[in-house]
Amino acid sequence: MSKNRALNIPDRSESYWLDSVEFPTFPSLEENCETDVVIIGGGISGIMTAYLLAIEGYRVTLVEARRLLSGTTGFTTAKLTSQHGLIYDYLLQNEGSKTANSYYEANEAAISYVKNIITEKGIDCDFSEEKAYVFAEDEKQQEKVKEEAEAYRKIGIDGGFIDNIPLDVHNLGAVVMNHQAQFNPVKFLKPLVEEIVAKGGRVFENTRVDDIESNKRPVAVTREGRRVEGDYLVVCSHYPFYDKEGFYYARLSPNRSYSIAAETDKEYPGGMYVNAGQPAHSLRSIQLEGKELVLAGGYGHYVGHKQNTEESYNQLYQFVNQTFGVKKVPYRWSAQDPATLDQIPYIGRYSTEMENVFVATGYRKWGMSSGILAGQLLTNLISGRGSKYEETFSPLRPIKEPGMKKLTKESFHLGKMFAEDKAEKPAGQFTDLQIDEGKVINYNEQRAGAYRDEQGDFHVVDTTCTHMGCQTHWNNAERTWDCPCHGSRFSYNGDVVEGPATKPLKKMRE
Ligand SMILES: Cc1cc2nc3c(=O)[nH]c(=O)nc-3n(C[C@H](O)[C@H](O)[C@H](O)COP(=O)(O)OP(=O)(O)OC[C@H]3O[C@@H](n4cnc5c(N)ncnc54)[C@H](O)[C@@H]3O)c2cc1C
Repeated sequence: MSKNRALNIPDRSESYWLDSVEFPTFPSLEENCETDVVIIGGGISGIMTAYLLAIEGYRVTLVEARRLLSGTTGFTTAKLTSQHGLIYDYLLQNEGSKTANSYYEANEAAISYVKNIITEKGIDCDFSEEKAYVFAEDEKQQEKVKEEAEAYRKIGIDGGFIDNIPLDVHNLGAVVMNHQAQFNPVKFLKPLVEEIVAKGGRVFENTRVDDIESNKRPVAVTREGRRVEGDYLVVCSHYPFYDKEGFYYARLSPNRSYSIAAETDKEYPGGMYVNAGQPAHSLRSIQLEGKELVLAGGYGHYVGHKQNTEESYNQLYQFVNQTFGVKKVPYRWSAQDPATLDQIPYIGRYSTEMENVFVATGYRKWGMSSGILAGQLLTNLISGRGSKYEETFSPLRPIKEPGMKKLTKESFHLGKMFAEDKAEKPAGQFTDLQIDEGKVINYNEQRAGAYRDEQGDFHVVDTTCTHMGCQTHWNNAERTWDCPCHGSRFSYNGDVVEGPATKPLKKMRE
C-alpha cells in the first residue's frame, strides 16, 4: 500500500523538470577516443562548460554516468538568483569585501548571461523575473536578516530589509533582492546540448568514469576501461570521485532535501521565498497544464542520516497544506548538494599537482547561477584568458578560521560514523521483510542490507560503501542505500545512483 496515501503524496519520486521535456539520448562510450576537453558529468555545470567551450571552437567530449540531467540539476527547485540564503554578511565578516563583491558580481553576471541567451536564441524555458526573499520567523532571525540587508547596502546589492512579505506566513520581515529569476533548467539546457552536438561535440551517456590519469594530457578512464584523452579535463560530477588529489572528501558535506509540487486552494502571491531558520521552507511557483502550482522544498538533513525520509515529505506537505491548502500533489522528489568549508564553491584547478584538470562543485543548493558561472569561469581558464573571479572560487584558496572549524567538525563526524556503524548490531532475517520494506539484517552471520520489492522478490547487498568503507543506511522514500560519510547512494540492488562512489555495492544474494 502507498506509504503516503493518507496525505495524497505520490508514492514514488518523479521530477517535474525531467517530466516536462523530452531530452535527446546518447550512446555509451564503446572505444577509446581523443578530444580537446573531456568533461565528466552532464548536469548544469558540465553542460554549460561543454557548451561555452564548443562555441569557442574546442572539440569537447561530455561523459555522463547515467542520463544527462539525472543528477541534482534534474531535481532542483531552479531559483536563478544571487540571493544564496544569508551569505553576504557572512562573506563580509569572514572573507572580506573583495570576496563578497566578487561573489555577488560573478553570480549576477551568470544570471545576466542566461537572460541574454534566452532572448538571443528565443529559448522557451518558463523564465520569469521575480523578487527573492529570505524571511525571519523570530527576533533572532530578524536581527540576522537586518545584518544581511546592511551587507547588501555595503556591497551595493539591489534590495534591502522590508517589514512584511507578500506570502501569508508568520514573519518579522525579510531581506529582499530585486530582479532575480526562476526558470526550467531542463528546458533551458536542451537547446544548448543540441548546439554542443551541432558544433561537433560528442556526448556519451551510461558511461561512468572510474579514474583519472593526470599525465601531460589527462585521461578519463571509464568503469569498462575505455580511455578519453584530452588537453584538458573538467570534473563536473557533482561530488568529485577522484581522491588521490584535492581531498574533496574532507572538504565537502552533502545535504539532502525534499520537494513537492502542489495544486493549492490559495493563489500563489509571486516571488521566491526561503526562511532564515530551520527547518528550511523554500517556495516558488511552476506551471502545469495551465495551472500555477506551488513548488515547496526543505526539511534537509546530512545524507544518510535519516532513514524515515518519507517523514520529510509528510512534514513538507503539512507546511504547504497549512499555508496554501493542498488540493493535489502531482510530483515529489528529493536531491542533495554538497557545501564547501567556507560556503564558496570550488571552481578552478583540481589540485596543484594536476596541471590541466579542473573541477566545479560545492554549490550549497545554489547551483543554478553557480553552475553557469562555473561554465564561464572554466572556459576562461582553459582558453588562457583568465578571470577576475579565479581567486574567489579557486579550490586551492587557503581556508580561514570558520572553514577550519568546519574541517575539524567534518573529521569528527567521519570518525563518529565509523565507530557507530561498528557498534550497530544487525537484527532479523531478510525473509522477515514486508513488501516494499528495506533494512539492515543478518545474512550468513554478516551485516547486509535487504529490500523486498513490490513483486515480493528479495534484494540483499553488502552495505559497505565502495567509496571509503562506511556503512550505508536505508532511505525509505527513495529505496536507496545512502552513505552518511560522503553522500554516495546506491539503488536497492546495489547500483551506483550518486557518487563519489563509482563501484556498485556487492550483491550477497542473486
Ligand atoms: C533540493 C535541492 C534544491 C535546489 N534548489 C536550487 C535552487 O532553487 N536554485 C539554485 O541555484 N540551486 C538549487 N539547488 C542546487 C543545484 O540544483 C545544484 O547545485 C546543481 O544542479 C548542481 O549541478 P552539477 O552540474 O554540479 O551537478 P549534477 O546536476 O548532479 O550533475 C553531475 C552529473 O555528473 C554525473 N556523474 C557523477 N559521477 C560521475 C562519474 N564518475 N562519471 C561520469 N558522470 C558522473 C551524474 O550522474 C550527474 O548527472 C538545489 C539543490 C537541491 C539538492
